[in-house]
Amino acid sequence: MADQDKSAKPFAPAIVPAVFQQAVEQADIAISITDAAAVILYVNPAFTRVTGYAPEEVIGANHALLSNKSTPESIYQAMWAAITAGQPWSGRLVNRRKDGSKYLADLLVQPVIDASGTVTNYLGIQRDVTDLHRLECEVGEQKALIESVVDSAPVVLALLDRDFRVVLDNHEYKKLVSDLRAVEPATVILDAVRASLGTLPGTPQVGRHAFHDHEIRFDSRNGTRWYSCSGLWVRRKDGTVESFFDRRDDLFLLLVAKETTRQRAEQEKTRLAMLQAMMAEEARIDSLRETLSAAVFKIEGPVNIMASVLSTLERRGGSPAGAALAGALRAGREAIDSLRGAIPGHSPESRTAVNINEVMRDVLDLTTTRMLAAGITVHWRPQSVLPSLNAYPSRVRTMFKAIVDNAIEAMNAKGWKARELSVVTRGHADRVEVIIEDSGPGIPPDLRYKVFEPFFSTRMGGGGHLGTGLSSAQQVAADHDGTIEIDSTERRGCCVRVVLPVPRRGMAA
Ligand code: FAD
Repeated sequence: MADQDKSAKPFAPAIVPAVFQQAVEQADIAISITDAAAVILYVNPAFTRVTGYAPEEVIGANHALLSNKSTPESIYQAMWAAITAGQPWSGRLVNRRKDGSKYLADLLVQPVIDASGTVTNYLGIQRDVTDLHRLECEVGEQKALIESVVDSAPVVLALLDRDFRVVLDNHEYKKLVSDLRAVEPATVILDAVRASLGTLPGTPQVGRHAFHDHEIRFDSRNGTRWYSCSGLWVRRKDGTVESFFDRRDDLFLLLVAKETTRQRAEQEKTRLAMLQAMMAEEARIDSLRETLSAAVFKIEGPVNIMASVLSTLERRGGSPAGAALAGALRAGREAIDSLRGAIPGHSPESRTAVNINEVMRDVLDLTTTRMLAAGITVHWRPQSVLPSLNAYPSRVRTMFKAIVDNAIEAMNAKGWKARELSVVTRGHADRVEVIIEDSGPGIPPDLRYKVFEPFFSTRMGGGGHLGTGLSSAQQVAADHDGTIEIDSTERRGCCVRVVLPVPRRGMAA
């Protein structure tokens, strides 16, 4: 470019004023020009289209003829304060057309300032925004309506972004957050869905469910709550400038969780009654099994002695007493065989997905009456959501019931004052831990391993116990590749820690 004289006025060819005039004339926006006293000097055809006034009807007049007389005085005062000070002003006014109809004008008044800094004219640019305003009101109203519907809806609702962060939630969701003591319910729900389904299924697609009516249980100190949870992929428009032309696929996950605790509670009541009957029958069979096993165990001792005496007698050449002993030994062995044959077997059971919180809840419900009668206070501290095990449900339940029964019995000793039972569940990626701690007299350290031996009982001779509860419990834990440990001191009562493995993905039943 050639050197320019910096003080020179901007390059303005003679053609420009004519172009300006044509541009203003043809503009599709109402333009008016006044003198410094606000007397209209010029209006363009769009002004006539908007207001209904022809140029000759307004030139020489004041814009006040457009006023519907309902715009507050303060707005005009603010306008005039700005424009007389040489500042532009914009705002909305209620105007009236020539035919008397009202419209909402979006007005910009730009003062025109001469070289000496004096306001010589005012340029007015206005457009009818009646429809836009109506639309804005409708949208605002709809938003408020939707928000109040969403907030008063008796379901938990949350909108999650691509990174599963909550961007919007409702009142019920916030209530759940406080119930779960600040744990994010969305995370709990998604973790539970992933734990049972492996991942969020399907490719995210608008209108498609990521999961549907998935029942999730929330365990807290206040009890168990059930929710039927669904996740629906929805699109939410991104309002940023960057995405104006480049429409990013802004997918959000709408989480809907409907509480089903009441229905579940009804089902649970029936299930528990059936369970109680079933466990009573199992207990009857167990005690029969224990009695017969103990009888076999007891007879085996003298029979073995008889067998060794008989073999000594036979080595010495035999005797009439030996023949009689042989007869008695035969009868003894036959008795053992028939007793063994009478021991009832375990009813066949197959492995299935088992939630240990559910099992422990059952065990605590089944033992409530006994615990109340013994004045035992229970501290139930479950982990909100636990991974499922692949286990034999009845056997696992019987195992935990045997441990809890032992704790009740230990604390229910005459004169024993401390009566508290704490049950804690913890979930890890590879295992579930259950810690059952009582405030009873505990098990002396030298007996800690002995209590797992069949027919050993610290209450030998009392309470009708044969001492097979813990040995069977250990067998159940071993059958599940798990462990049971006892940590007991005289002072602290007895603490039983059961660890059961969680199946690796794809290995669950
Ligand atoms: P007014 O007697 O005009 O006064 C209202 C208030 O404004 C008073 O407080 C007064 O002090 C102040 N005021 C008025 N004129 C002046 C002035 N010259 N200098 C300093 N203060 C002043 N009004 C509309 O209702 N609709 C329009 O579409 C519209 N377009 C306009 C476009 C332009 C370019 C300009 C400059 C003004 C426009 N006005 C418009 C404002 C209009 O001129 C009137 O001020 C307004 O309508 C109020 O009129 P009024 O007779 O009720 O009150």
